[in-house]
Amino acid sequence: MLGISSENILEHSKGTSHSPPSDSDRTTTLVYNDTEPHIIRDGINRITVIPKPDNEYLVNYTGYMSGIVRVTQDGIEELGDTLLATQTDVPNWLVDSPIATQTLPSWIPDNYTGPPTITCQHCHEKTPAQDIVTPNRTNGNTTNRFCRNCWNEIREQWHPEHGFDNRGE
Ligand SMILES: [Zn+2]
Repeated sequence: MLGISSENILEHSKGTSHSPPSDSDRTTTLVYNDTEPHIIRDGINRITVIPKPDNEYLVNYTGYMSGIVRVTQDGIEELGDTLLATQTDVPNWLVDSPIATQTLPSWIPDNYTGPPTITCQHCHEKTPAQDIVTPNRTNGNTTNRFCRNCWNEIREQWHPEHGFDNRGE
């Protein structure tokens, strides 16, 4: 479950449709950065983490599946390491927060430095990671990076397996 070992999960309610009471000042939200235009993902796309007394945390996840997990301090650190410590060049998980990275909670790995800026290979504009499209991404390797404007222009000529389809030219 999100990288959290079973011994660090105190309680797990699956399919919970309503959010737990949130304390917006202390809630941290992680969002899945979906950059692959040809794959319908059936995973979790949003996670909110609320600290509780006694070093416990409530983790509310939504997406294709949803639920609430109550975890220990070790458990929340496992979640942070799993989702944020190993950042690929175009990261899949981002902290959705206006607050500065230096005030992030302690379970966010030290090497998380916020969403990177990525250069679009078409217009060469520097673009926030949230606005990048990576067609034909495989196993975390990103070979194609387009900003959403360029992607909207070229998507008709893009073949999901071969990339640019030039056969008509
Ligand atoms: Zn572009």
